[in-house]
Amino acid sequence: MEHYLDNAATTRVCDEAAEAAVRAMTVTYGNPSSTHASGRNARALLDSSRKRIASALGCGQSELVFTSCGTESDNWAVIAGTESMRRKGLHVISSEAEHDAVRKSLDELERRGFEITRLKPDPSGSVSIDSLRSALRPDTVLVSLMLVNNETGSVTDISAAARAIKDAGSSALLHTDAVQAFLKVPFRAASLGADLISISGHKIHAPKGIGALYIRKGLRLKPYIIGGGQEDGRRAGTEALPQIAAFAAACDAAAAQFEEYSQRMYGFRDEIIRSVSSSVPSVTINGGGAPHILNISLPGLKSEVLMNYLEAREIYVSKSSACKKGGRSHVLEAMGVDPRSIDGSIRIGLSRYTTGEDVTALCEGIREAWKSLAHS
Ligand code: PLP
Repeated sequence: MEHYLDNAATTRVCDEAAEAAVRAMTVTYGNPSSTHASGRNARALLDSSRKRIASALGCGQSELVFTSCGTESDNWAVIAGTESMRRKGLHVISSEAEHDAVRKSLDELERRGFEITRLKPDPSGSVSIDSLRSALRPDTVLVSLMLVNNETGSVTDISAAARAIKDAGSSALLHTDAVQAFLKVPFRAASLGADLISISGHKIHAPKGIGALYIRKGLRLKPYIIGGGQEDGRRAGTEALPQIAAFAAACDAAAAQFEEYSQRMYGFRDEIIRSVSSSVPSVTINGGGAPHILNISLPGLKSEVLMNYLEAREIYVSKSSACKKGGRSHVLEAMGVDPRSIDGSIRIGLSRYTTGEDVTALCEGIREAWKSLAHS
């Protein structure tokens, strides 16, 4: 029996989302821009989907623009957001723990002449607001800090970051990559204080290929994709209605029982920590905070060896980020985790579909792996 515990990489599509996608492909398949009845039905589905996702994110419908994925949202927010402020300065603040979708956008900004300050996360994996305060300058035009880290689950206090920017009298825009936070930790866009928020469907049981960017009312970003006037002229291309309808259905399903799912995942996380600590006393926990991500190190065991051992038992976990091929985790390095622990780290990703059997299989697998591999 398969035990899928890599839910920070991607999640199983929930039945509600799959059904919504099939319906949008086979029944409501019109083009939302067509004026006939089929188009109008598709438009109605697009509007109602946007309303439901906006409600889950806690923002107005006009503040939500659909994209193809979290990466596109991050690229657009960081690059176009910064470029929109060029007249005011050339300084950007972010962190060393960001996802590559933000890191590569920062590299691009550097090539365009911007200066980037990359803050170090503290040993718990969060970015301290004091370090942000010290880095803010009169010419800072954008701050981009992720809400939940994809490798460790560590949470950065974005509301406090927004207050710090305001208190400093700075006009810098605040972007947060909330791809791992949306519907996993509680927050509302309207009260978070960020100007730009990236989210992605496939982390919350919707299909791959759909994301969104929250753009605070009144803020205009230069479109990344130009063509037809879709998304109020902000992002061209015929709307991916099956994915959008599925995204809305996934939001409804996750939001309806948010508390219950969250508590279950926290419970499993604690159980894994307890069990692994008793079988592997030298285990260390890297960061943490969000309910669905647990990063542990078994020093002396190599991540790949442990992953292969678990995979042979159909238990799927990952080594840091699924998107990162090879190399040491830049996140754990930035947190100051010692190299031996980084080399023995794995990321466990939980979801609302995680079962007690999955957790038991994982804990037994780790115990057996430690017994048979650790000192060989
Ligand atoms: N940001 C974070 C924190 C992520 O975890 C991911 C995906 O792993 C992304 C951005 C990219 O999202 P997508 O896979 O939808 O492009």
